[in-house]
Amino acid sequence: MADDVKVLLIAGTGQNGATLVCRTLGGLPGFVGVGELGLIWDQGLLEGRNCGCDSPFAACPFWTAVGQEAFGGWSRVDAGRAKALRGRLLFRRLPIPHPFALPFILHPGMSSGFRRSLEEYGALMRRLYQGIAAVSGAEVIVDSMKVPGHVFAMSRLAGVDARLLHLVRDPRGVAFSNVKEVKREGVRSESYRVRRRPAKSALRWLWINQAFRVLAHGGMPTTILRYESFVAAPGVEVRRIAAGNGVALGEEDLAFVRGDEIDLPEDHLVAGNRLRFQTGVLRLRSDEEWRQGLDPLQRRTVEALTAPLRSAYGYRSGSSRDVGNA
Ligand SMILES: [Zn+2]
Repeated sequence: MADDVKVLLIAGTGQNGATLVCRTLGGLPGFVGVGELGLIWDQGLLEGRNCGCDSPFAACPFWTAVGQEAFGGWSRVDAGRAKALRGRLLFRRLPIPHPFALPFILHPGMSSGFRRSLEEYGALMRRLYQGIAAVSGAEVIVDSMKVPGHVFAMSRLAGVDARLLHLVRDPRGVAFSNVKEVKREGVRSESYRVRRRPAKSALRWLWINQAFRVLAHGGMPTTILRYESFVAAPGVEVRRIAAGNGVALGEEDLAFVRGDEIDLPEDHLVAGNRLRFQTGVLRLRSDEEWRQGLDPLQRRTVEALTAPLRSAYGYRSGSSRDVGNA
């Protein structure tokens, strides 16, 4: 529908630059980047973490205006219930892995209880997207939530023109990021990102990327973005993504992206990694630390487990120079 809210859903495994891509796209005229929007209920409303603008969520003028527009004020939203509904869509409370929730999202008639949760959560998200569109005036909302359950649910939302930005990264790079400890910022207590063993990371890479291919094959408008290509030539990739989603950019619209440098725009990402809080010029560099850091056995394990899909994205085994700009 012509007046549907256009939402570009960044989809992927994590540890693949989603926050950076969200901020860069959000700097374009006609776009607004909001970060991992499905976490707004817990990290924004319940925990009061800082917004990307560095204000506590409740004091951020952007999110205050969105809450007013969408719900008549955040006090009228039961954030605990919204968080629980989101958890149900991911099978959080069942001893069943998250992938098994996806068929229920695509075919909600299989369970009336699941369908009711999906509809209730969808109604909240629709109002939220509509509020963001009204307050920002943007034509495209960029949501970097990434996880399949959220992306699948949003892909089916009435009143939302959902598009997929399928972000892929070399699974060996993802695996190496998963074994490193990274301190979380923007939270009051000290905590660390979850660590994953390389084999687990590889299997997760495989099913998550396969899941998003299902959506694309089902007809969802999709742009594939390789993390490595974005880091090598962000201006080229951003222009391609904008064109693929109906926005033609002028030369001056990309003035904040110069070669491999991005002058990070002022924005209000509600959740995401620590890059949310960085301001000023950021020089991109391809994170190829895994080439030295991942031990040979781990590397071969990841290569073997991801083989069915890895070459589809141009990530070949063996060679030390197998990441191009295709
Ligand atoms: Zn803010």
